[in-house]
Amino acid sequence: MRAAPLLVCPAVGNTSCIFCGATGATVKITREHTFSDWINEVLTAEVVGLNITCRRSIMHGPQTGTVNTWPAKEVAGHKLRAVCEPCNGGWRSLAARLPSQ
Ligand SMILES: [Zn+2]
Repeated sequence: MRAAPLLVCPAVGNTSCIFCGATGATVKITREHTFSDWINEVLTAEVVGLNITCRRSIMHGPQTGTVNTWPAKEVAGHKLRAVCEPCNGGWRSLAARLPSQ
């Protein structure tokens, strides 16, 4: 029996940037870590155990209410396709490094 998921990630649409709202045929929506990488350095397997799971609930569309759960290798390894390239590579990249420095 697996332990309850430590982090529950919301499902989001992948047609517009969740930060700046950019959308359209010329906007590339990229994968972004849902949580910063430095969390993995704090919440290691020694701290949280080896049975790490990720769970996502579908909130919209025909599969509303479906809950998917899968094993994960690290607490903060989950990514969402929800951020445009300028946000992901620009201010988001800088902001993700700030807590660990
Ligand atoms: Zn953006």
